[in-house]
Amino acid sequence: MDFLIYPFLFAVGLVFGSFLNVLIYRFSKGENLKEILSGRSYCPNCKTTIRWYDNIPIISYLVLKGRCRYCGWKIPLRYPLVELLGGLILIMVYWKFHTFGWITVLAYTLFGYILLVLSFVDWYTFTVPDILSIGGTITGWILSFFRADISPLESFLASLTGFGLIVVLIFVYYKLKGVVPLGLGDAKLLALVGAFGGFSVLYCSIFLGSLLALLFFLPQIVRSKSLQFTVPFVPFLSLGAFIGIFCKSLLFLPL
Ligand SMILES: [Zn+2]
Repeated sequence: MDFLIYPFLFAVGLVFGSFLNVLIYRFSKGENLKEILSGRSYCPNCKTTIRWYDNIPIISYLVLKGRCRYCGWKIPLRYPLVELLGGLILIMVYWKFHTFGWITVLAYTLFGYILLVLSFVDWYTFTVPDILSIGGTITGWILSFFRADISPLESFLASLTGFGLIVVLIFVYYKLKGVVPLGLGDAKLLALVGAFGGFSVLYCSIFLGSLLALLFFLPQIVRSKSLQFTVPFVPFLSLGAFIGIFCKSLLFLPL
């Protein structure tokens, strides 16, 4: 009967995903934390408060055929997508890590959710809210004291390495070329990745993330014949990190 936990967790994850949508929307608008956590969901277009029966993950989107009940505004595909990812992240993490104990499941789920929100916020606004990146990093350190799969020392050192690496890169690049290729947001993201995933996930985030970003932006790089444009890097680093937590045991890394 153990398999029955999966549909249950998936449903719970969908509800979390629905909340993540609210966070993405409000952080992208630059609302402060008090505004973000208070108030009910409303249609971004006509501001009508959304009734509970129009707020059921995935199902409401399908029933309403992707439009607001009141003004007909086309609901972006991002909404059902993030809900779906909320469900998928929870069951994937549970499947892979439930033998490590519930704190590890909680830690990686939270990690996946923070990465998801930060990816979309960076994609839309090129910003990385401190409350999620720095707040998340500190949460990751605290959780590492209760986890069997990572030590507090590794959590802390991997954070420092990720953050330091980007800061050094920014400094060197600035000295050589007079431009800043990456933002401090990317440094804060890697601190978060180190805190939750340790060194192997950090490496995966950096190498796989860079590779994915390079492939994705290759047409743009070829067209403009330079690397001098701003790209949101967080979604790629995040994807690399998330893949990393599932490949941890497959990688032969020094740490
Ligand atoms: Zn509306």
